[in-house]
Amino acid sequence: MRFNRLRLSGFKSFVDPTELVIAEGLTGVVGPNGCGKSNLLEALRWVMGENRPTAMRGGGMEDVIFAGTARRPARNFAEVSLTLDNSERLAPSGFNDDDVLEITRRITRDVGSAYKANSRDVRARDVQMLFADASTGAHSPALVRQGQIAELINAKPAARRRILEEAAGISGLYQRRHEAELKLKNTEANLSRVDDVIEQLA
Ligand code: ATP
Repeated sequence: MRFNRLRLSGFKSFVDPTELVIAEGLTGVVGPNGCGKSNLLEALRWVMGENRPTAMRGGGMEDVIFAGTARRPARNFAEVSLTLDNSERLAPSGFNDDDVLEITRRITRDVGSAYKANSRDVRARDVQMLFADASTGAHSPALVRQGQIAELINAKPAARRRILEEAAGISGLYQRRHEAELKLKNTEANLSRVDDVIEQLA
């Protein structure tokens, strides 16, 4: 699924609605230090479901909301939308069946994050799975932070393996396995509870 457009509003330094068209081929973002280039990459990660404030260079997730300047008051929410080309219908059936899929994440102070897919409410997990299955997402090795190359060179084999698994498109399976294990644990706890009740009745 190709990314077509990124829209930001109230996200970090992008207080006013800003649109970045991602054309076919190579897109370069150029600008002086501190103009917000890294914030754009973080917005991309964030809309795909990033939940670690440290990955957003913040102490808490609400730090992504425009914090205000001497001339402009702080915002109460931040919103990022990512438009994807779904003409090959690669999005799972839970999402809409249109050529264009727009994923939106919005965070409101003291309320938290909410996700939408073409204006319809969806769960964070569904969005994370959508991108994991498409071999991308908040933790994709395709998104390279400053200093990350040095980290990769020094990485342990297990960390390198995760990168290969991501490239092979199987990282979504880990999330599903984790969820299946949690369900199994719950079921085992329920079964042991049923055993207790049966014993008491006998
Ligand atoms: P460099 O080339 O130095 O890496 P850059 O172009 O990547 O810089 P960023 O790191 O993306 O720039 O942007 C940093 C700017 O974003 C800083 O001016 C910082 O004050 C601003 N910023 C970060 N978070 C917020 C926020 N929540 N509210 C307002 N401004 C913010």
